[in-house]
Amino acid sequence: MDGREVKAEEEEEHEIVIVGGGICGLATALALHRKGVRSVVLERSETLRATGAAIGILANGWLALHQLGLASLLRQSSLPLH
Ligand SMILES: Cc1cc2nc3c(=O)[nH]c(=O)nc-3n(C[C@H](O)[C@H](O)[C@H](O)COP(=O)(O)OP(=O)(O)OC[C@H]3O[C@@H](n4cnc5c(N)ncnc54)[C@H](O)[C@@H]3O)c2cc1C
Repeated sequence: MDGREVKAEEEEEHEIVIVGGGICGLATALALHRKGVRSVVLERSETLRATGAAIGILANGWLALHQLGLASLLRQSSLPLH
């Protein structure tokens, strides 16, 4: 085993760092968690942002939420737009 192989093994053991705890960062962390991969989310803000009115989720969004195991829970409090 040469030095490059040792380095590759070490890199695979490092935790994954996700910068930003917004919806993308948290969804990524949850997806990794469900695959058994540990990650660390770094968020610079000390408070939650309380702006915004609603989240519009289209078909692909629901597919992503289904993959994350969140769709059935969120459907209970969602308002379908027809
Ligand atoms: C005022 C406002 C109102 C909105 N209202 C709505 C709405 O009503 N409905 C809707 O669907 N969408 C709304 N949006 C859009 C929605 O907020 C974004 O589409 C969504 O938040 C994007 O998610 P994100 O995870 O990509 O980024 P963000 O939500 O922006 O998350 C990124 C996170 O990374 C953190 N971060 C950035 N740089 C660093 C760093 N260097 N180190 C550590 N942390 C860092 C930030 O603090 C932030 O928490 C609104 C946006 C704004 C600004």
